Amino acid sequence: MPMEISLFRCRTDNFGLLVHDPDSGLTASIDSPDGETICAELDRLNWKLSHIFNTHHHYDHVPGNEMLKQRTGCLIVGSKKDACRIPGIDVQLQDGESFPFGSGTLTLLETPGHTLGSVCYFLQPDKILFTGDTLFSLGCGRMFEGTKEVMWQSMQKIMALPDETQIYCGHEYTLSNAEFALEIEPGNRALQKRAEEVRQLCREGRHTLPVSLALEKATNPFLRPHSAEIQKYFGLEDAGEADIFGAMRELKNSF
Ligand SMILES: [Zn+2]
Repeated sequence: MPMEISLFRCRTDNFGLLVHDPDSGLTASIDSPDGETICAELDRLNWKLSHIFNTHHHYDHVPGNEMLKQRTGCLIVGSKKDACRIPGIDVQLQDGESFPFGSGTLTLLETPGHTLGSVCYFLQPDKILFTGDTLFSLGCGRMFEGTKEVMWQSMQKIMALPDETQIYCGHEYTLSNAEFALEIEPGNRALQKRAEEVRQLCREGRHTLPVSLALEKATNPFLRPHSAEIQKYFGLEDAGEADIFGAMRELKNSF
């Protein structure tokens, strides 16, 4: 049976994210933005927490780790590279290593850039990608610790996954990301359509996630440095993709 996903707001704009395997009864939380809110959602669904998979060490992604571990005895999985910054970590994975989760597996992909230890998890066979703060819908995370070359490499790693992959990220930033994307690539029809859909979802108080990788590749400027319109906007027609990616990221910081 396919995994069941619960997506809910935590803190102000973080997503809480629970993954439940109906076959085994296991439930994982992707990050732990708020232990109390996560517990309330677990109770509401009558799911028992068995795992936390952390995407990175930031204060709004790990604060519930220890409380949830104490309360539920869950196992905490994270990147070996960030082991010293992930509270309560039990299992350390390296790039490409998979961890069994009920009837499926989660494979850790090292995707540095937002932080040096940032990772994504690819859930199979469901083809679901949890991107934390590395990739958002129509945007990407700030480069706190990585360089444009490093982060662009991470973007390419994500783009190499199957087009039908469904993406869940760590924050609901899609609406403001859409404004930036339209500023630098206004002629992109797929983007215009997605932006309209996002406005409608937000008006209705609904989430804008998940989103397919195919749609992100067609609409997210940070996956589109090859776009002639974007290159022209920055006057970087002859530049390399990492430089164009870097120019976008820098402009977004002050947008
Ligand atoms: Zn972060």
